[in-house]
Amino acid sequence: MRTLKLDGQSKCQVIEAADPVPGPGQVVIRTRVSALCGSELGTFRGAGAATGNSGHEGMGTVIRIGEGVTRVQVGQRVGASAIAGCGRPECDACRQGQSTWCPSLRYFGSMHAEQFVTAETACLPLPVGVPDEVGVLITGDGLGVPYHTSLKLAGADIRTVAVFGLGPIGLGNVMIQAYLGRTVIAVDLLPERLALATRLGAHLTINAKEQDAVQAIKAATDGKGADACVEAAGVPQTAQQCFKAVRTAGLVVFNGEQPAVTLSPSDDFIRRDVRAVGSWFFHVGEYPAMLKLFQDGLPVAKLVTHAFPLERVREAYDAFAASTTGKVVLTYGA
Ligand SMILES: [Zn+2]
Ligand SMILES: [Zn+2]
Repeated sequence: MRTLKLDGQSKCQVIEAADPVPGPGQVVIRTRVSALCGSELGTFRGAGAATGNSGHEGMGTVIRIGEGVTRVQVGQRVGASAIAGCGRPECDACRQGQSTWCPSLRYFGSMHAEQFVTAETACLPLPVGVPDEVGVLITGDGLGVPYHTSLKLAGADIRTVAVFGLGPIGLGNVMIQAYLGRTVIAVDLLPERLALATRLGAHLTINAKEQDAVQAIKAATDGKGADACVEAAGVPQTAQQCFKAVRTAGLVVFNGEQPAVTLSPSDDFIRRDVRAVGSWFFHVGEYPAMLKLFQDGLPVAKLVTHAFPLERVREAYDAFAASTTGKVVLTYGA
């Protein structure tokens, strides 16, 4: 089979590799679509990957199953969460579908390939009527991260949500929050991504290169600030801006990964009763609700702006790395 090799320094190529073999409890999927994720760009631009690749959002057809597999069958069309819980009945987290809280969770990658191996517990069956490029998003972190975040933003007192950083995760937050009826303010530095946010339902866009994002959000909210701010850029400045732009007793949700950031307990939390929470990935137990959102009308397909066949993967990465796209997907021949 053919698979992507990341050579580092923004170089990559398609190479031949042995077909994967499923271990006990594992399955092999013949890929139909895999999606690029912002979290892969560090590997792409940096050292690359010695073995496998950073692809971790994939869907396709089950073609081989390992010993003891009972949850999926050969021929079934499924998407795969990159994080698999152990699935054992004695595991509290897995019993409740909370796969990323499983103490024995495993990560499966290398999904930018004609075939990939994963655990049966990571497989989420796709019903007829779900297009492949939607299927890869609703069974993976493409929609999973914004959906899991939406559960943190569930309060009825949250009416205005500001999203900082409009990569695919930020755009997914814009789409879901607008669909749920919130007034969405979208902040980024690039006009192309601000335009995508408008297409996905943002009511106000702020180019932080041209104006002060905190002041603009205050001006749009009668001087109060947004009810909630989502940090999806993963840089210190936007994390700090989230606390300045959120209203008294508001909520900040961290999506963007980053190390230490300077915040003041007094100014950013205590004196304004502000709360902040993290939100990581999604649980496989949340998939039925994500599927239903799509079936009810959430415009998931609008998140995908580019599709390339595997052999044009360099163009796909170059387009994605330019930070002007929504979700970029790779397709695989019949
Ligand atoms: Zn991802
Ligand atoms: Zn478990």
